[in-house]
Amino acid sequence: MKIFYDDDADISIIQKLKVTIVGYGSQGHAHANNLHESGVEVTVALRDGSSSWSKAENAGLKVATVSDAVSDADLVMILAPDEFQQGLYESEIKSNLKSNAVLAFAHGFNIHFKKIIPADDTSVIMIAPKGPGHTVRSTYLNGGGVPSLIAIYQDGMNPNNHSAKEIALSYAKANGGTRAGVLETTFKEETETDLFGEQAVLCGGMTALIKAGYETLVEAGYSPEMAYFECLHETKLIVDLIHEGGIANMHYSISNTAEFGDYVSGPEVITNDTKEAMRGILKRIQTGEFADNFLNDCRQSNDGSGGPIMKEKRKNTASHSIEQVGAELRSKMKFLHSERLVNKDKN
Ligand code: NDP
Ligand code: MG
Repeated sequence: MKIFYDDDADISIIQKLKVTIVGYGSQGHAHANNLHESGVEVTVALRDGSSSWSKAENAGLKVATVSDAVSDADLVMILAPDEFQQGLYESEIKSNLKSNAVLAFAHGFNIHFKKIIPADDTSVIMIAPKGPGHTVRSTYLNGGGVPSLIAIYQDGMNPNNHSAKEIALSYAKANGGTRAGVLETTFKEETETDLFGEQAVLCGGMTALIKAGYETLVEAGYSPEMAYFECLHETKLIVDLIHEGGIANMHYSISNTAEFGDYVSGPEVITNDTKEAMRGILKRIQTGEFADNFLNDCRQSNDGSGGPIMKEKRKNTASHSIEQVGAELRSKMKFLHSERLVNKDKN
């Protein structure tokens, strides 16, 4: 597979375009500041009265309402939450988009599931950093970047007659992505694998595994504090080893006792039934059933802060004893605090 680095991208392409970044949240603040410091003319698009307006201005960025910022732009990167993008596109983006402007995303959700249907001659591209926004920003500031994906959904009329791919690579370079490596994918592949990963493994699978282990120990009479350290706190230490050097590297660092236990017990926890469940999850993603369930729940929210299902699940998570004992134990581990605050305040 071809991986694109700095030398494969021409940064001057994006430097000659007016770029509008819609939203100034996790990804938005990172893209806007990275591109700005890479010499790109950036406007941040926000709704009137947005609390992010002054934050973006204080960072030295130009800010305008969505309709104003879009009507002037050669490239519009939509970095509002996925569940608001369709409404935003219909109300303020579609009618203001210049005929040769490029539409860009950091996740394929709305294009792939056809919630946003751009004109046939509009270029639609993706530049998706494979990491949270604060990492996209902090690695850029340190001279690095986050590995990123690019994808071309359609290559239409473009400013200065560049191809959609040249523009996507140029954007990725200005955002720091080509310092780490950029892979080309499709909207379909990015959307479906991203949703699958976060549901089955990274977020859904991981938290279910941690909670099940914790509950098993506590229900058997062990102390919640012991169970917390064992099943939650230590996951990071193990994941770091896997991340640095793969599974064998982790096995090398842990004791032989732990390695033997890994081999005999892991397959008892994650069984063929688990994989069957994963296949079901993948199917519901591929058919669009998951996307519709998510958007239906969002639609029932009156303040945009999550629908009834989301709110119910958040409440259940917060009242689980692993969260309560965890809050107590983490409050004593002062060294964790800075990291936690960075993660909470994405800006
Ligand atoms: P955030 O939730 O952090 O975005 C919030 C921003 O969007 C805020 O500035 C908010 O404005 C603005 N916003 C919300 N609704 C509107 C609206 N109707 N009009 C204008 N602005 C609005 O989003 P993320 O950064 O998490 O996600 C953005 C995109 O990036 C998504 O497509 C996501 O899938 C993708 N992505 C996200 C990653 C991440 O790390 N979070 C990783 C990779 C991709 P206000 O300040 O006024 O509230
Ligand atoms: Mg993801």
